[in-house]
Amino acid sequence: MNSKTKIGIVICDRYRRCAGGKCFRAMKNKEGAFSIYRDTEVELVGFTTCDGCPGGNIEYAGEEMVKNGAEVIHLATGLVVGYPPCPYINTFKAFLEKRHEVKVVVGTHPIPKKYLDMHNHLGTWENSVWNPLIAPTMNDEVTRASYD
Ligand code: SF4
Repeated sequence: MNSKTKIGIVICDRYRRCAGGKCFRAMKNKEGAFSIYRDTEVELVGFTTCDGCPGGNIEYAGEEMVKNGAEVIHLATGLVVGYPPCPYINTFKAFLEKRHEVKVVVGTHPIPKKYLDMHNHLGTWENSVWNPLIAPTMNDEVTRASYD
């Protein structure tokens, strides 16, 4: 990986009023899915929402981000922790990777404790297909609690 990696972030539109606090904090601290950048600087070159179900902006946002130099596009943790999680995560990832030959990472900031507790209660992530989707942002208990 280069000494500086340019990234874009796509958030779930249900959190469209989010100011990005958790994502930006995690990006600065290299926590959650941003831990892959421990040895490199990160530059954010795009931040937008999917524009609501079923994610029409994925088609356009990816192009703009890549034109701006994005090497990695993160699908924000909100897609994973929402009630219910986004049903299109794998489609978005496959589409962006094929269309733009860009790396797509599922997740941004660590999963907050309150969301993990609720999804454990709901059994949301019991199916093993969720394992690779939640792994990058699972983190340790103390870190999760700090993102509540
Ligand atoms: S659930 Fe998925 S498609 Fe719907 S608003 Fe959220 S990210 Fe977009």
